Amino acid sequence: MTASSPVLQIACPGCHALNRVPAARLADGPVCGRCKAPLFTGHPLALDEAGFARHVEQGDLPVLVDFWAPWCGPCRMMAPHFETAAARLEPAYRLAKVDTDAVPALGARYAIRSIPTLALFHHGREIARHSGAMGAADIERWARSQRLG
Ligand code: ZN
Repeated sequence: MTASSPVLQIACPGCHALNRVPAARLADGPVCGRCKAPLFTGHPLALDEAGFARHVEQGDLPVLVDFWAPWCGPCRMMAPHFETAAARLEPAYRLAKVDTDAVPALGARYAIRSIPTLALFHHGREIARHSGAMGAADIERWARSQRLG
C-alpha cells in the first residue's frame, strides 16, 4: 500500500488558470492544462491584483512575494538574487514580485512601509515578513526556515 500523494492547486504563470497537480509530480515539469505553459519557469512572476488573488489566495503553494519599486536601489540590487532564489526554491515555493508603484493597492493592503520587503504567504495568510535586501542564499534559507501554516 502506498499513500496517495496530495493534490495541489497550482496557478499557471501564463494564464493564471488553476491546475490540479499531485504533490509528487511537481518536479516533473507539469504544464498548464489550459494554455500548455510550464507551471514552473524558474523565474519570479510579476503579479497584479488578479494574479495575486489566484497565486497567493487560491493556490496551494507557499508564495514568497518581493514588494519592490523601480526607483528603489536596494530593490534593483536584490533582483538577481531573487531570480536565483526562484530557481532554487521552485517547485516547493512560488516566487513573485509586486511593484508597489504599479499596484499600490497591494502595498496598502499589507501595510508595506519600506521596500524591499519579502513576505511569505500560504493559503492567503501572511506567515513571515522581512524588510531589507538579502542575498540569494539568505533568501532561500529564510524561506525554508518558516513553518508553513
Ligand atoms: Zn496556463
